[in-house]
Formats: sequence, structure tokens, C-alpha cells
Amino acid sequence: MTDAIHRTDALVIGAGPVGLFTVFQCGMLRIKCHVVDVLDTIGGQCAALYPEKPIFDIPAHPSVLAGDLIDRLSQQVEPFAPVYHLGQQVTGLTRTEEGRWRAETSKGTVIDAAVVMIAAGAGAFGPNRPPLKGLEAYEGTSVFYYVTRREDFRGKKVVIAGGGDSAVDWAISLSEVAASVQVVHRRAKFRCAPESAARLQELADAGKIELVVPYQLSALQGDGGVLTGVEVADLDGGLRVLEADVLLPFFGLATDLGPIADWGLAMERSTITIDPTTGATSVPGIFAMGDVCHYPHKLKLILTGFAEAAQAAHACYPLVFPGEVLHFQHSTSVGVPA
Ligand SMILES: Cc1cc2nc3c(=O)[nH]c(=O)nc-3n(C[C@H](O)[C@H](O)[C@H](O)COP(=O)(O)OP(=O)(O)OC[C@H]3O[C@@H](n4cnc5c(N)ncnc54)[C@H](O)[C@@H]3O)c2cc1C
Repeated sequence: MTDAIHRTDALVIGAGPVGLFTVFQCGMLRIKCHVVDVLDTIGGQCAALYPEKPIFDIPAHPSVLAGDLIDRLSQQVEPFAPVYHLGQQVTGLTRTEEGRWRAETSKGTVIDAAVVMIAAGAGAFGPNRPPLKGLEAYEGTSVFYYVTRREDFRGKKVVIAGGGDSAVDWAISLSEVAASVQVVHRRAKFRCAPESAARLQELADAGKIELVVPYQLSALQGDGGVLTGVEVADLDGGLRVLEADVLLPFFGLATDLGPIADWGLAMERSTITIDPTTGATSVPGIFAMGDVCHYPHKLKLILTGFAEAAQAAHACYPLVFPGEVLHFQHSTSVGVPA
């Protein structure tokens, strides 16, 4: 438990791209922010799931790697010196007698803020783990649920499990650097973009990837966290062992909004209902933006979240600075406030 209570203008829950841009938009209006994220690093999905993938629909960036986008957002917020509390989940949120908000995290950090900006994406996310005996012993050494650096797999015997976009995209990409790539899927058909499926089949026909279908993972072989083989079973229980240095199970993400769902906010299917013109939730003083929010025709895109961040920063201003009138100004007129 920390002894100090951090007092700030805005608490931003989530340090994904939208949370970071919320800090920027708040900073431009002199609203100071503390940012909490359950992950150990900033960047949300971009950093955790696809840092080396190019994004093509960020305005004015014909192509930008997701990891680079996060680096630039991080630079953009630097002048406002946000205080990050990483590796901790916001668990509790209560109203204070002063009409402010008091948040508590899983590490006991307490933050007292005038307003709360929820940019929590799909919530605290983690991989769906395959039910394999002794799996934990290999996690982080031979079993990985995300690829953050393709180079880490150069020269390795890689077994990928799963039949969706991540499994197929990484099989195609890693076939350029790995010693071998085998894809285990319980069906012959893959659930991915048709052009990716066609490319996968081309690489399989050329002997660059082996499709191990229809098979399922059944056991791991190895010792001391070092994998030597992956045992797979066909639908009749027939077993086969694939030589492997690395197993990449891509069975999707388990997402959990967790405590946020209990804060009394109006919700629709695990997302928070907002007024898209202000980002306001059903509870005064709490705003939401990015993938976590919902309104008719909402698009879960980074650029949409950026616009929602701008709307919410302007809308929360009267709550942070009661009685002060906000005159809308372009960044070209005000520059970046120190
Ligand atoms: C493979 C892939 C490719 C994609 N490609 C594109 C693309 O080309 N273009 C595009 O626009 N979008 C793309 N997206 C979607 C894009 O990544 C999301 O729209 C974007 O990340 C949403 O940003 P966010 O900040 O709202 O949420 P997130 O990035 O999900 O970040 C939310 C953060 O909140 C944290 N959090 C949640 N709950 C709590 C809590 N209680 N306490 C503390 N922290 C919490 C989480 O740990 C997370 O870090 C892609 C997504 C994937 C998976």
C-alpha cells in the first residue's frame, strides 16, 4: 500500500494509443494526467500484439509500424510530463466528498482526480492458453503468445498453433527467418483473410511451411523450460511429435473489462455507452474513448479513438476548471503549452 495519494486533474485508465493521445489533448488544455495500465509497458494492443506490423490508416502516415506509432505518441506527450503507473490495474473507483474521483490500483496506488478518462480498450487482455500439462514452465522461454521481434525466431524450429489471422500472418512472416515453420490447426481450412490463406498454401506447396492439419496440441516435450518437441494428436487420437524450439499458440485473446464493468456505467455488450460528441458516460465526470466505448456506428479504429480523445478533453474542461471559459483554439495558435 502506498502512503501518498496522488492528486491530479485527470486519471487516464489505459496507456494504449488512445489513452496516450488523451494525455496529449488534455495537456494542450493544461489538464494534468496520471496514467495507469495493467501492462508493464505503454502502447496497449499496438505494443503488446503487433509492434512490428505496419498500420496504413493513420492520417498522414502512409505506413507506420505500430511500435513506432507508440514511440511517437510517447514523444508527443512528453512536454506534459504525465505520471505513469504501469503494471497495475485500476480496481476501485469511488466518488469523494469533494465530488472528485478516487481510484485504487492492484498495487495499492491511490489517485484522486477531478475527472476519469477510461481508454481501457478491450480491458485487461491476456492470451487464451492451451490446456497443456506443465505449460507454465515453458512460458516466456519457449512458449510465446505474442511476437514482438521477428528476429528472435531467426534459425529456430517454430511450431505455430491456431487457424486465425495471427497464426497465418506469423507463419508467413516467420517462414522468412525461421529454420522451419509448422502450423497445427484442427481443421484444413483457415479462418483468415483469403489472400493470406492463398499465400500460406503457396508457401506450403513450396515446402517453406508444413501444414499439420487436422491436428491439435496434446503435450510438450522438453526440460527446464527448454522445448524440444510438441506432441500433436489427430482426430482419432493418432500421435505425432514435431521437433520444436518454440511454440506459438495463437488462440485469440481473453479480454476482461474487469472491475470497470462494476462501476455503474451504462454499458452495451462489454463496452461503455458514451455520447460521441463529448465522450461523456452515464456517470458525470467519467468519460470514455477508444475501443472501450460504444455509440451507433462506432468504428474500432485508432483514428476514431483519437477524435474521441479530443472531444472528451474539451468536454471535461469545465469540471477540471470550474467557472473558467474555454475558448477553442487551434494548436497552431497556442503552440504546445509548457
Ligand atoms: C493485429 C491487430 C491489427 C490492428 N490493425 C489496426 C489498423 O490497421 N488500424 C487501426 O486503426 N486499428 C488496428 N487495430 C485495432 C487497434 O489496435 C485498436 O483499435 C487500438 O489499440 C485501440 O486503442 P485503445 O487505446 O482504445 O485500447 P488498447 O490498445 O486496447 O489499450 C487499452 C489499454 O488499457 C489497459 N487497461 C484495460 N483495463 C485496465 C484497468 N482496469 N486498469 C489499468 N489498465 C487497463 C490495457 O492493459 C491496455 O493496455 C488492430 C488490432 C490488432 C489486434
